Amino acid sequence: MLIDGNTRLIGLIGNPVEHTLSPVIHNGLSVKMGISSVYVPFQVEGEGLDQAVKGAYELNILGMNVTVPHKNQVLESLVEIDEAAKQIGAVNTLVRVEAKHGYKGYNTDMMGLRRQIQEDGISLKNETVVILGAGGAAKAVVYMCLLEGAGKVYLLNRTLEKAKQIADQMNRIWKDSCMTAASGLEENPEGADLSPDKVIPMLLADYGKIREQELIVFQATAVGLAPNDRQAVLEDAEFYKKIKTGVDLIYNPANTRFMQMVAEQGGKAYNSLKMLLYQGVTAYELWHDITIPQEIVEEVYVDLKRRVYKKDNRVLIGFMGSGKTTFGKALAGKLGMHFLDTDTYIEKQAGKSIADIFAEDGEEAFRKLETETLVYLRDHLENTVLATGGGMPLRECNARLLKETGRVFYLTAAPQVIYDRIKDSTDRPLLQGENPYGRICELMKERKSRYEAAADELVDTNSNDMEEILDVLSKPF
Ligand code: NAP
Repeated sequence: MLIDGNTRLIGLIGNPVEHTLSPVIHNGLSVKMGISSVYVPFQVEGEGLDQAVKGAYELNILGMNVTVPHKNQVLESLVEIDEAAKQIGAVNTLVRVEAKHGYKGYNTDMMGLRRQIQEDGISLKNETVVILGAGGAAKAVVYMCLLEGAGKVYLLNRTLEKAKQIADQMNRIWKDSCMTAASGLEENPEGADLSPDKVIPMLLADYGKIREQELIVFQATAVGLAPNDRQAVLEDAEFYKKIKTGVDLIYNPANTRFMQMVAEQGGKAYNSLKMLLYQGVTAYELWHDITIPQEIVEEVYVDLKRRVYKKDNRVLIGFMGSGKTTFGKALAGKLGMHFLDTDTYIEKQAGKSIADIFAEDGEEAFRKLETETLVYLRDHLENTVLATGGGMPLRECNARLLKETGRVFYLTAAPQVIYDRIKDSTDRPLLQGENPYGRICELMKERKSRYEAAADELVDTNSNDMEEILDVLSKPF
C-alpha cells in the first residue's frame, strides 16, 4: 500500500489494545480495496478519553473504533449518536462529521451481528429468543432481536438485576415506539443464577407451550471463552433440546461447548467470528462511505480465521540440541502432519546456506529474512510441525509471529543433556570454540526467559523418552 500525503489514519482507542484483531480487518480491506488508509491501535486511559477523541478530530483522523473500557463513556465526547447506539448505550465506532466538528457514534457490534444472522439465514421474526448474559454484548443482541421483530425475548443472567435493568429499559423504549413487532422482554423471575436447577424450571414453565427445537438462543456470557473452553453456562440437555438455532457470541474456540451441545441435540450452531468481521466491515464502510464487495469481505474473513484459530500448526522452539528436528519429525509422523524446518526453508529460498548468508550479507540481513519468512509461513502454513532456528524466537516480533502461526512449544533440557546430544556434530560452530559446554550453559541462561516468553507451553525433554514427549506434544489444544 502506498503511504503518502493523502493517506488517512484510522484508529482504535481502548485499554488494553495490543490483542486487537481489528488491524487484520481494516488494513486488509485497505490493501484489497486499494484505499490509502492505515489503521492503528491507541492505548487510552480513562481520564484521557475526551482529550483523545477531540485530539483525534484535530489530527484529521478519519474515524475510530472504541473498545473496552470506553464504549459507554465515549458517548459524552460525541457531537451526534446514532439512534440504535443511543438505545444500546454503547458506541464502538466513531465517524467524522465535519459540519459539527466532531464524531458521530455508532454501534456496529449490533449491526455486525445483524449482518451475520442475515447471511446465515437466521430469521428472528416472531420467534422466541433466549439470550444468555446481560453484559454489553447482550444489550446489542437484545436491540437486534427487537429490530428484527422477535416475538418474545427472554434475558437470563447470573446477576438478575442487570437483566432486569436492560429488560425494563428496552420495554420502555419499544412500547413507546411505533415498532410493534417486538412484544418486549421477560426477565428471569426465579433467581440470579444460570445453574440448570434454577433457570430450567423457570423456562420450563413456558416450555409447556414451547415445542422441541423451537428456541433461538444467543450465548452472550463470557463463559466458554478460550482457554476455559470446556465450559458452558448451561449444561442441561433438556434446555438444548428446545434449541433450533444457537449462536455463541464467543468465536474462540471455533466450536464452543455451547455450540457442541446445541448440535448434539440436533440444533444448528454458529459462532460469531462473522459478527467481528461485519462490525469491522460496517465501520469501514461508514468511514469511507462505500460498500465493500462481498468477494473482498470473504477474502478478509479467510485472513481473520487464519489469525484467530492459528490453524493446527505446532511450532517447536528451543536451544540447539533440544530436539526440535528429532521430536518434530516424529510428531509430524504421529499426527500425519507436514514437517518444516525454518533454517532449511530459508536456505532453499535464498539459494545458499545460512553460513553463506551470514558471510556474504551479514547477520542483520539474515534476521530480516527470518522475519519475512515467518510472516509468509504464518499466513500460509497449515497442518505443519514447524521447527525453528535457535535464535528465531529471541526477537520480539518473531516471537509474536510464531504464536500467530501455531501453538508454540518450548523444548527444554539441561545443558549437560544438550551437550551430550550435539557433542559429536561437526557442523556446529559453537562446538569448535574452547569450552563448548561452558558456552552452552552461558547461552542457555541468556536465552531462557525469552524462550519462555515466546512459548505457549514448556516441554521437558531431559528423559529422551520419545513416547512420553510425543504424548505431551500431540495432545489436542
Ligand atoms: P461483559 O459486559 O463483561 O458481560 C459478561 C457477561 O457474562 C455477563 O452477563 C456476566 O454475568 C456473564 N458471566 C461472566 N462470567 C460468568 C459465569 N462464571 N457464570 C455466569 N455468567 C457469567 O462482556 P460482554 O462485552 O457482554 O461480552 C460477552 C461475550 O461476548 C464475551 O465472551 C465476548 O468475547 C463476546 N463478544 C463477542 C463479540 C463478537 O464480535 N463476536 C463482540 C462483543 C463481545 P454477570 O452480569 O452476572 O456478571
